[in-house]
Amino acid sequence: MIFFYVVIGLFGLVFGSFLNVCIARLPRGESIVLPRSHCPRCNHAIRWYDNIPLISYLILGAKCRDCRAPISPIYPFIEALTAVIVCLTFYVYGLGPEFVKFALFGMLLIVLIFTDLFHRRIPHAVTIFGISLGLILSIFVPVDDQPLAWVLRHWYVYLDASLASFLGAVAGAAVGGGLFYAVGEIFYHAGGKQKEYLGFGDVMLMLMVGTFLGVPLTLETILLGSLAGSILAVTMTVLSRRFRTYAWPYGTFLGIAAIYAGLNGDRLLNWYLHFSGMAR
Ligand SMILES: [Zn+2]
Repeated sequence: MIFFYVVIGLFGLVFGSFLNVCIARLPRGESIVLPRSHCPRCNHAIRWYDNIPLISYLILGAKCRDCRAPISPIYPFIEALTAVIVCLTFYVYGLGPEFVKFALFGMLLIVLIFTDLFHRRIPHAVTIFGISLGLILSIFVPVDDQPLAWVLRHWYVYLDASLASFLGAVAGAAVGGGLFYAVGEIFYHAGGKQKEYLGFGDVMLMLMVGTFLGVPLTLETILLGSLAGSILAVTMTVLSRRFRTYAWPYGTFLGIAAIYAGLNGDRLLNWYLHFSGMAR
């Protein structure tokens, strides 16, 4: 079993290294394939043996081999984080189609969490790719379609399982993206300052999350993300004046909440439904 975790963790590190490239380049509209990675200060191309996840960072002592410019600890952090998320996905789902789906979901979200945090950007290249992937994967890995099935049963419509799952993904996207679009429009027409904070990137992010998670877990993501974001924003504003004008990256909180919902959301939802006396 340990062997599986080591292999999957190593894959996670390698993918994490690629996610670093995506996070640095996609918000600027640059290619993620070419040119090869180079030092941002001396422009020297990074040698392959200096580009090994985690290890190179430690061997180089966090400095460029050529110009000794410091390398940001963010790079090894994202590599390690990716490995941890992929291992957690394996822990929850084991090896199978669900693992592939939620490992890909986690990696897409890691990119968006950090592009929003560092650049306040949620690149359409990532979300459009994610929405397509979520729709395709819904045919192979069932999306929670219970609310939709419930509605359709009342109209005496019974669907084939993969079609029901696909429609569940579409419904999730409609609910997630629709809610954010509506909120954005309301703030925009109310002329509030908030319109800058709720960009179209958040709508795209929630469309993507909806296709992967379906309606119930998408709502859970919005609830958890908003709650965590609000608590942190209020706490920090109380603690320090500096945060009064800080533009909080909503997408970062939604992304973290979506990773949680994908891995443990069902358990939380069942627990809640159990205690609120609703059968599921
Ligand atoms: Zn350099």
